[in-house]
Amino acid sequence: MPVVPMREILDRAFTERYGVAAINVVDDLSLEAVLAAATDLQAPLIVQTSLKTVKAIGVKPFYAFWRARADEVPVPVTLHLDHCPDREWISTCLRAGWNSVLFDGSELDVAENTRQTIEVVAEAERHGAQVEGEIESVMGVEDDIGSEEGGEIHPVEVSAAFIDATGVYSFAPAIGTAHGLYKAEPKLTPERVTELVATHPIPMVLHGGTGLTEAQFTDLIARGCAKVNISTALKIAFVDAHREFLDANPGKHDPPKLLAHVRAAVKEMAERHIRIFGSAGQAKAFDTTAA
Ligand SMILES: [Zn+2]
Repeated sequence: MPVVPMREILDRAFTERYGVAAINVVDDLSLEAVLAAATDLQAPLIVQTSLKTVKAIGVKPFYAFWRARADEVPVPVTLHLDHCPDREWISTCLRAGWNSVLFDGSELDVAENTRQTIEVVAEAERHGAQVEGEIESVMGVEDDIGSEEGGEIHPVEVSAAFIDATGVYSFAPAIGTAHGLYKAEPKLTPERVTELVATHPIPMVLHGGTGLTEAQFTDLIARGCAKVNISTALKIAFVDAHREFLDANPGKHDPPKLLAHVRAAVKEMAERHIRIFGSAGQAKAFDTTAA
């Protein structure tokens, strides 16, 4: 199945209230592993890149191996640029073929964020791409973006006005989650999702999901979080699998075995989340014959 627009994947997930895993890959191995997980479980999947990963690998090389692999999978997949405060990089990725971008203007005041997001939405439309919006920064630093404190939380009406004014396709509300690992039990405000969806029925995006319970995931998804970001869990699976293998095999220098071990751990992590989010089996509902 060819790569599809973000809209095609999330419209259905939002309507039917299941969640689609949006996994931050870090290289070709992790990309291949998460695509294999989606294929095995017949699940639609969102692959995303942090700006740090795009810069590290390069736009053209990343897009080339993404496209080469994505074109071969039998499930709907799409490519998203995660938290990007830099307009130049937004433009670069849209031109290169990314299907969706998160313009992260959460460091700007809401008026300036709104003004710039309107421009990004217009630019993305010219590429047939969608925009995720955000006005409150998610607590915690992720790939050099964000702060440990977390920013100001606005009344739901402010988010609603931002969605109205900008026409963003999806929105990431602050609901008490944080990037990275939780140091204490998070105090979630899931009712903010319900309140926003009641007036603005667009897909909501859950950031900072690593460490939430299965019940917290399913509750937030039922309320309208159709896109569920997974970044920290991939990093843990990826790095710990290296460590495990190397600790267990101190005398071995066998890259294919090491990489196979890492791939298996990343694939298992992706499968676990896809199952919890309810998207396993959902690819069958898509028209796989469409070109
Ligand atoms: Zn995030």
